[in-house]
Amino acid sequence: MQLDIRTLIFNLLLFALVFAIGIYLLQRSQPRIRALRWWSGAIIVAGAGFLLLALRGSIPDLLSIVVANDLMLLALCFFLEGVVRIRRLSRPYFWRLSLPLVAALTLLLLYYTYVEPSVGARILAVSLLNAIPTVVAAWLLIQDIPRVLRPSHYFTAAGFIQFAVVSVARAVHTQFWPPADLMTAGPMQAMTFLSIFSLLVVASFGCVWMVSAYLADELELLARTDPLTGALNRLALDENLAREIARARRGKRPLSLLMFDLDHFKELNDRLGHQAGDAALRQVTTASQQQLRATDLLARYGGEEFVVVLPDTDKTHAIETAQRLRKRVGALDIDRGDGVNLTASYGVSTYPEDGEDQDSLVGRADATMYSAKQSGRNCVCATVAS
Ligand code: GH3
Ligand code: MG
Ligand code: MG
Repeated sequence: MQLDIRTLIFNLLLFALVFAIGIYLLQRSQPRIRALRWWSGAIIVAGAGFLLLALRGSIPDLLSIVVANDLMLLALCFFLEGVVRIRRLSRPYFWRLSLPLVAALTLLLLYYTYVEPSVGARILAVSLLNAIPTVVAAWLLIQDIPRVLRPSHYFTAAGFIQFAVVSVARAVHTQFWPPADLMTAGPMQAMTFLSIFSLLVVASFGCVWMVSAYLADELELLARTDPLTGALNRLALDENLAREIARARRGKRPLSLLMFDLDHFKELNDRLGHQAGDAALRQVTTASQQQLRATDLLARYGGEEFVVVLPDTDKTHAIETAQRLRKRVGALDIDRGDGVNLTASYGVSTYPEDGEDQDSLVGRADATMYSAKQSGRNCVCATVAS
């Protein structure tokens, strides 16, 4: 099969234009995601490179060889920077890696075009230098990826890896069968262009897929988080508690719930205002979270009421934890506005003795907390006062 290189380049240009416009428009609708800027930039720069390459013979070699290949390497570096951005890495890859690479390629291409002309040496330089940002981008895409983001990242990484493999194969191939002319060369050249074509398609589709995966993940998190305090919300509590009870039942392990409510919180709001009240809620959340294990869950149940899920915890240890949280909140030194420190009252319930399902455990924790309120507040109750 003989593929015409100029036709391939023309197709590439067309695709590059469409993708660049598409990603640019996507970026306008998602200005927060800066990675998209680099990707649409990458495609535009690659397109410019191809245009110059296609004009080989009609424009000076400086443009169609040196600048064209520089632009294509720069495009790969832009892709890499997009990957760095979407992975929220703060390392300045672009300046550290890209500029030396482009500078090295420029010098090599100038030398092998004007001083000691050699198509083979030029292809070797282009192929090997192109492989570097590509491999780094693929590597960054597959490092420590949360499971929900894996398919989109692996897919995009595969696009980069195939390009790197073909680039290295081309470098090796050139050593044994030096090409005479770029535009009429054989299967290896055609394969290279097809590989670039695939990279363009996979990277464009992949970046859109990755962005939508990130947005979906973020939405998922928002749907389960209380916006004021950052604690879990009711939806997340219900889901997690059901799962933890099922796990406790399967493993025949205890599980405890704490419910706590801030004492005379209305007082603080009335005297100091709602903003001070909100700040206090955030402080209580952060301080409580610091007292808990990574496997414990803290949820905001209602206004100034919280629930803590303590997996693998019997009643004695749950009471200890509640006392620790109570002392910590009392020590926060949040004045209610009347010279008295903000405190909280805690109720405890434990699976299986106080209930075997969600409703009875939450109900019991609520009842014991009410007992704590009745016993004078700023205390922990594990039994219901009669
Ligand atoms: P008790 O010790 O009996 O719990 O007294 P309390 O004043 O805390 O109880 P009450 O239920 O009467 O008041 C709870 C207050 O919590 C009422 C409401 O203004 C306040 N509150 C609920 N949600 C928020 C919130 O998101 N921000 C602020 N600032 N206040 C809130
Ligand atoms: Mg209260
Ligand atoms: Mg309340």
